[in-house]
Amino acid sequence: MENVLKDMVSAGAGDEESAKQFAKAEEMRATSLQKCSKVQFLVEIMDRMGCKINPQTFFKAQHCNGNINGGFSLNEDGSPSVVLCQNHIQDQEWMDRTMAHELIHAFDHCRAKIDWERDCDQHACSEIRAAALSGDCDWKYEVLRGHFSIPKQHQECVRRRAILSLQFNPMCEGKEAKCVDKVFDTCYKDTLPFPEMP
Ligand SMILES: [Zn+2]
Repeated sequence: MENVLKDMVSAGAGDEESAKQFAKAEEMRATSLQKCSKVQFLVEIMDRMGCKINPQTFFKAQHCNGNINGGFSLNEDGSPSVVLCQNHIQDQEWMDRTMAHELIHAFDHCRAKIDWERDCDQHACSEIRAAALSGDCDWKYEVLRGHFSIPKQHQECVRRRAILSLQFNPMCEGKEAKCVDKVFDTCYKDTLPFPEMP
């Protein structure tokens, strides 16, 4: 979850460019649901846990102003939904891991009813798991980001990205790294619903 504040998303400029981005994001979203086994597995698990989501309405492609790929948020009735940032997600693999990332948050919320606005440790735990399990920290993406092979590359990447994500939650201000470090070992090891790190 990058806490998507109301002013961070919009319909975009309403021009041809944003219409194109929206159409492309919608197409990639449909492809993820049909072809990405990780996304399909997570949707299926939510169903089995009694937190069934309707993938057609759960994910919404929108224009994002912040430097984020997506965001998990709760609607007024407490039901979760996910924004997919149509102006940032560039290709199918990017869409797959963004959807997987947000679905990990949805899983965590289903499992533990996380208080996103009050509990920085819980939010940190979910960001660690989302970064670790979604593929965000796969070696090839890290190389593209300019982070070359170092010992414990995956852990370092997960830690860095979890801290970045917490920066969008005002409640965690100033204690992002502290929260992540406090829960890191426990949450990094928790690979559910996967039997091991996928
Ligand atoms: Zn996140």
